[in-house]
Amino acid sequence: MSERMEPVDSPGNEPAGAPEPAWAPAQNDGAAVAGADDRSDTEVARYSDRLLNEGHERWEGDRCPICFLFVGLPTGKYAQMNQCCMKTVCKGCILAAHQRGLSGCEFCRTPLPRNEASTLAMVQKRVRKGDAEAMKHLGDKYFYGRLGLTKDIPRAIELWTEAAELGSVDAQYHLGVRYYTGEGVEEDKPRGICHWQEAAMKGHVPSRHNLGILEFNKGDHELAVQHFMISAKMGYEESLNVIKKMLMEGHATKAQYAEALRGYGDAVEEMKSHQREEAKRLGV
Ligand SMILES: [Zn+2]
Ligand SMILES: [Zn+2]
Repeated sequence: MSERMEPVDSPGNEPAGAPEPAWAPAQNDGAAVAGADDRSDTEVARYSDRLLNEGHERWEGDRCPICFLFVGLPTGKYAQMNQCCMKTVCKGCILAAHQRGLSGCEFCRTPLPRNEASTLAMVQKRVRKGDAEAMKHLGDKYFYGRLGLTKDIPRAIELWTEAAELGSVDAQYHLGVRYYTGEGVEEDKPRGICHWQEAAMKGHVPSRHNLGILEFNKGDHELAVQHFMISAKMGYEESLNVIKKMLMEGHATKAQYAEALRGYGDAVEEMKSHQREEAKRLGV
């Protein structure tokens, strides 16, 4: 794997049909620890320690609110978000609700919106109530110009920023991608990396994976493996695959790959349920 790798740009719970553009990282990835220039060496070392020690448990918001199991990754493939309550319900629970003849939202029972206008009204209502996930979601809609909205990137950034301040790690991740790539905003790689670091320390998996990619591209394979190991153990196949490739190229050890494989397997096993297996079998 001598070529450079691309950080992931998978928003997870963006509904199908809204693919994001693929993008390649630029040649300069910026500092590993954002804002390192104006911090003392001790502070930088302490932050680097925190970065590796925190966020080993997945963000709690990635659990299905009905069965309480973590949703598989990428979450958009294994769950669906309902705008009424902004809850991401797993496909196993969607199937179960359907089999019991329930209609509307599987979590809060609100009838599903009939069209884009009523969907937008639902989301805006939650935004007015200060719901961070609704702000993140509305930011997505402005970013791509969906639900009848005119594309408005500054408004999207504003909403994501507010959502991030209120605790949305997905919003934090999106800000990371935008500032890192400079898509729609003035490129600011250290700022983008800082958003990924903050999200990773709260257990946001794709953000953790991207930190691994950044280290890999800088040639720090040992640190890269440490990041990938954390995300692989939270059930991210992408990170496991990268460690495997690194092993084949002599950048990771057999023991590291074995540990990642075991951790990944445990995480996947914990996310399994009868309902989810059934949903997979039926192609829900
Ligand atoms: Zn569930
Ligand atoms: Zn609902």
